Amino acid sequence: MTENPSSVIAATVFDTKPYDREALRQASANHGIQWHFLEFRLAEDSASAAKNARVVCVFVNDQLNRPCLEVLANLGVELVALRSTGFNNVDVNAARELKLTVTRVPVYSPHAVAEHAVALLLTLNRKTHRAFNRVRELNFSLNGLVGFDLCAKTAGIVGTGKIGRVTGQILRGFGMRVLAYDVFPNHEWAKQAGVEYVKTLSALLGTSDVVSLHTPLTPETRYTIRAETIELMKRGSILINSSRGGLVDTKALIKALKSGHLAGVGLDVYEEEEGIFFEDLSGDVLHDDDLARLLTFPNVLITSHQAFLTREALSEISHTTVTNILALASRQSFVDGSVVT
Ligand code: NAD
Repeated sequence: MTENPSSVIAATVFDTKPYDREALRQASANHGIQWHFLEFRLAEDSASAAKNARVVCVFVNDQLNRPCLEVLANLGVELVALRSTGFNNVDVNAARELKLTVTRVPVYSPHAVAEHAVALLLTLNRKTHRAFNRVRELNFSLNGLVGFDLCAKTAGIVGTGKIGRVTGQILRGFGMRVLAYDVFPNHEWAKQAGVEYVKTLSALLGTSDVVSLHTPLTPETRYTIRAETIELMKRGSILINSSRGGLVDTKALIKALKSGHLAGVGLDVYEEEEGIFFEDLSGDVLHDDDLARLLTFPNVLITSHQAFLTREALSEISHTTVTNILALASRQSFVDGSVVT
């Protein structure tokens, strides 16, 4: 498709980093999208920056509550294109009432996120983050670096959608017994992958040496991991959350780490990550005391919501986003499974 000025579609893209801009430009080359890239996030008070745009493109920490969506609708925005799978940051009912179409990226490399979840597990268990720092200081001691074999241990996968299934398969490859819990179990996949579904979350938590969370954030899944459910987890188990911060009650997590109930925690997401993750705050004072406390534990590994960050995932996210924007312009169908409202 070549650029025709009359069919150019204006898209305001919030919360962008250099890698987002590059991937979107590459995916849209010669396709008649006029990008307006912004570094700040979308919220009610920044929504006016979408003036003259037919499309607004956002990421995980943009806040699309009712007042924000009202501003967008009044500006004449037609499409909100999320560059993410999850859409817990959108007031879906308000968007529907305001006749704003909201799309997401229903599938992009589940391997990116699953592999990162496993990277967190391997690092935590074998303490390679600590070993790396030690060796650089010529400290070749192994004291305190004892891990355990994953082979023959039990992993529990909570949520066996696209990402949870890949994570389960990788862990099966290590020779782990893999248990799974999902409100909609996929028995055919489980049979092929050698995974066993359990009927309740409690059964999974009580049996697993490693628990990895892969459900979306919904009212039902908020604080899946909280004081009462941590109590059910095996003492000495490892928790990995690469899904959404709100799945875990941070204060309960800190208590469990202090008491030694949990042996390790790997987090790619954090319930209060908005305004912190994705930013360089190295010259600032950290005001979040819970995050500051988490960062003091030697057995807590935190990454800044980077599980999606592979070349393949960025390219797929951009292609789906661009396809949906072009579909709006040409009145064709959006990518299968991407329409939220
Ligand atoms: P998916 O929709 O394919 O799978 C989600 C699964 O969770 C489904 O099988 C569903 O039945 C199950 N589920 C929903 N509610 C449940 C409940 N109450 N109890 C048990 N199971 C429940 O989604 P996906 O592509 O696998 O992604 C999972 C999540 O990963 C996303 O919602 C998103 O929050 C997160 N994610 C994180 C990153 C990152 O960079 N860290 C990137 C992409 C996605």
